[in-house]
Amino acid sequence: MTRVNLNKALPYNVTLDENRLMTTEPIKKNELICTIKSRLLPIDKDISIILDGKTIDLSSNKHFVVLNDNIKELIGISCLMSHSCSPNTRLIKKDKNEYNLESLIYIGANEELTYDYATLRFLFTSSFKCECFSPHCRKTIKF
Ligand SMILES: [Zn+2]
Repeated sequence: MTRVNLNKALPYNVTLDENRLMTTEPIKKNELICTIKSRLLPIDKDISIILDGKTIDLSSNKHFVVLNDNIKELIGISCLMSHSCSPNTRLIKKDKNEYNLESLIYIGANEELTYDYATLRFLFTSSFKCECFSPHCRKTIKF
């Protein structure tokens, strides 16, 4: 079991509700939500994330990401964000191990933060069926 401590990783305007990242107040379009430093970890079937005193077992949910046989990369809190085919955020690579999480549209309070997993295709090794309920849902996300 690998434990990753992400305490104090959440921006002031975001909270964790079950396994979803929710806004606590509105976020303007094209706003920098936070900067995320990526982490490289040895492969392990079970990863727990500890965030604000809560432990989240990533092996039991769909946010789990596998890079290749030897390395698994968790991009900070983005590993807790759901995929959407009509996402409200995007991750922009800033530096070798740094990403900016930015809003694509205006996001109201109490909305879930999502991004399009296909934009981080290097993290994934297989496709998955999508049920994001977006009118633009691609049904199968291929990498
Ligand atoms: Zn979808």
